[in-house]
Amino acid sequence: MAVARDATNNDDALADDLPINNPHHWGYGLHPDTDEIPPANWSQVSADSAACKFANQSPISINDTNALEDDALVQLGFSNYDQPAQADRWLIYNNGHTVQINATFDKKPTLTIKSGSQSNDYEFLQMHFHWGADDSRGSEHIINGEQFPLELHLVHTKVKDLQDVDVLMHDPTGLAVLGVMFRVGTPAQLAALPAEYLKELDEVIQLVKLAKEKLVMFNAILPGLHLTGLLAQLDASPSYYRYSGSLTTPPCAEVVVWSVLKDPILISDEQLAIFRSLEGDDGKLIDSNFRPLQDLNKRQISLFSSGGDKGGDTEGTVPPTAAYPAPTTAQKKY
Ligand SMILES: [Zn+2]
Repeated sequence: MAVARDATNNDDALADDLPINNPHHWGYGLHPDTDEIPPANWSQVSADSAACKFANQSPISINDTNALEDDALVQLGFSNYDQPAQADRWLIYNNGHTVQINATFDKKPTLTIKSGSQSNDYEFLQMHFHWGADDSRGSEHIINGEQFPLELHLVHTKVKDLQDVDVLMHDPTGLAVLGVMFRVGTPAQLAALPAEYLKELDEVIQLVKLAKEKLVMFNAILPGLHLTGLLAQLDASPSYYRYSGSLTTPPCAEVVVWSVLKDPILISDEQLAIFRSLEGDDGKLIDSNFRPLQDLNKRQISLFSSGGDKGGDTEGTVPPTAAYPAPTTAQKKY
């Protein structure tokens, strides 16, 4: 199906369908009997994928013991996240490695990343997901030893770099990716959430179901859907971890300012099962599409905590932190 592409689409989930970047077939090492290039060898996928073995790669394991609260960080600046897409039209694409969703907007959702005196605006480009074959795995980042069954990546492009993809792909802060973890909620936990918190998340996941076959791309009209609705379970100012990293798929460019939210969103078993039913590059199910952990090396992980005792310009405006209880030991498989 021919669909117009945004010339600035240069991100982890799209990199593989730019032929110049991907002369060889890469995968997650699940099918050793095929010619797919496993994660350990992604640096050989193309001429520009050498970064896959560099020192500032993603994902990483994040612990409160290796993350320092940083007073230079402030709350994430979301603007136009409540804007609907043009004509309420969303584009859904199964690229063989994940399902990617984007849209065009009259007013682009924008994430402002501030640290100290530095401030940059990043426009929303696309979102996609990483998941696993069972609830014990799936997320790319691991937080305090927990791997989650699903991780959402909202990819944003630095507005200053938008005119020149070459500049963007050499700017260590060219992309801002927001990582959001999902945890399977019990029926009682899900029933306790306001219905509107689940409605838009469910609308998006029902769309994912339609992208079951690889390389299927389609438009869907979703009246009123906006990113804020998708993330309704989160606080207005969620706690997050910040570090410098990379795309998590070839070419693994080290151009990403990561903001990984500390608290997960709840999802149902049925919703999660939809991701595991998608067909991948090789015609088999995409039942695990997370990259193995990369070494932190010399990088620092910073923490912005909305917990309240840090003061600063967010004090008094931050709602209580959403705290969904972790599974009990008996349920926890990781
Ligand atoms: Zn991703």
